Amino acid sequence: MSNERKRREALVYHAKPKPGKIEVRPTKKYSTQRDLSLAYSPGVAQPCLEIAKNKENVYKYTTKGNLVAVISNGTAVLGLGDIGPEASKPVMEGKGLLFKIFADIDVFDIEVDTKNIDDFVNTVKNIAPTFGGINLEDIKAPEAFEIERRLKKELDIPVMHDDQHGTAIISSAALLNALELAEKDIKKVKIVVSGAGSAAMACVSLYCSLGVKKENIVMFDVKGVLHKDREDLAEIQKEFAVSKNYNSLADGVKDADVFLGLSVGDVLTPQMLKTMNDNPIVFAMANPVSEIDYDLAMKTRDDIIMATGRSDHPNQVNNVLGFPYIFRGALDVRATAINEEMKMAAVRALANLAKQNVPEQVNIAYGETKLNFGRDYIIPKPFDSRLLTEVPPAVAKAAIETGVAKEPIYDWARYEEELYE
Ligand code: NAP
Ligand code: MG
Repeated sequence: MSNERKRREALVYHAKPKPGKIEVRPTKKYSTQRDLSLAYSPGVAQPCLEIAKNKENVYKYTTKGNLVAVISNGTAVLGLGDIGPEASKPVMEGKGLLFKIFADIDVFDIEVDTKNIDDFVNTVKNIAPTFGGINLEDIKAPEAFEIERRLKKELDIPVMHDDQHGTAIISSAALLNALELAEKDIKKVKIVVSGAGSAAMACVSLYCSLGVKKENIVMFDVKGVLHKDREDLAEIQKEFAVSKNYNSLADGVKDADVFLGLSVGDVLTPQMLKTMNDNPIVFAMANPVSEIDYDLAMKTRDDIIMATGRSDHPNQVNNVLGFPYIFRGALDVRATAINEEMKMAAVRALANLAKQNVPEQVNIAYGETKLNFGRDYIIPKPFDSRLLTEVPPAVAKAAIETGVAKEPIYDWARYEEELYE
């Protein structure tokens, strides 16, 4: 299809039959006068009074417990940059659609017209009573780090900046499986990273929680290596600054086991790839153009294990494998946070799922004949219905074990049945 045709198709999809991608629908009867007197005045006063007596009743009588806010200020939208709150709305509505179809979570998308950290934090805090969880989206670094840190501290509902942690969780699952296939020890692997923005910093932090040694990571941004002598680094970046001098990415890539790309297209050359260790693991996730072209990388090294952010190649690191199910698990136990243990539980559940036999429906959905754990299949596919029964219970259990679940689940068999419904 020509690019012009694709453009028109996307615009028509969004415009017709009515503008946008989501809508609000009533969930109770509303056809008689009696129904209306329950839905609104005077009946509605009863749940109001119950909630006024005890705020926790808001979960019993309203949609709060299944409602997530997808909130952006439009400062880092997809790979499009700072295009403003209105222009970010299609993305936020799209996220709403994905939450709904994959995990039956309802979303209000909210686009906020401010770049000021205090204003943004206050806006989210002030509207938080409406929601069971907050998904921060497409907010530029380093502001996003501070916004998330403050909201996590000040709110008692789960808050997650998906561009950071979603990417970290999915790529961690891919990393665990790639390491297993390459027979590399997580405690010893040397990782070189192109990019030190939202996604890259969250990835390296989670990789360290999983066992990677900080001293085995070298990171580069536009200005070069994250070095101890640099004065322009954010707090989180300082933690990964090295004292050794590197002239360039080419210097860092030499003898690395893993290349993680969360920067821009075409920064990793075949020559550089050739200098990596045996069975190199290459996650080239810049969108839409990856740090090295998939076919070029595959041609350059036949021992490579590769993942990208793109759907037209195997091993797509796609955040949709994470956020619907992480929030599902968190909401279902009324978690007060999404903590490190819950993220790690999601990582392990995703990694394990990729190792199980693939149901026929998944092969059919992707026009495949035999998806099987291996170099071309290190993470599950988005249209795998087992995600819903594997990931949320793992996340919910981790929430309970770490004491952040206000409504623990006791009957797991029943919970899993409910997830199927
Ligand atoms: P970000 O916060 O803007 O970070 C981009 C980082 O890349 C910055 O550290 C930037 O350095 C660095 N960079 C830019 N040009 C570079 C170059 N030529 N060499 C080395 N580093 C360079 O963006 P982000 O949200 O982390 O996303 C980064 C990329 O990853 C985007 O392409 C995004 O689409 C992709 N991504 C993919 C997935 C996925 O596939 N699942 C998920 C998340 C992100 P400075 O700070 O010095 O400018
Ligand atoms: Mg995003």
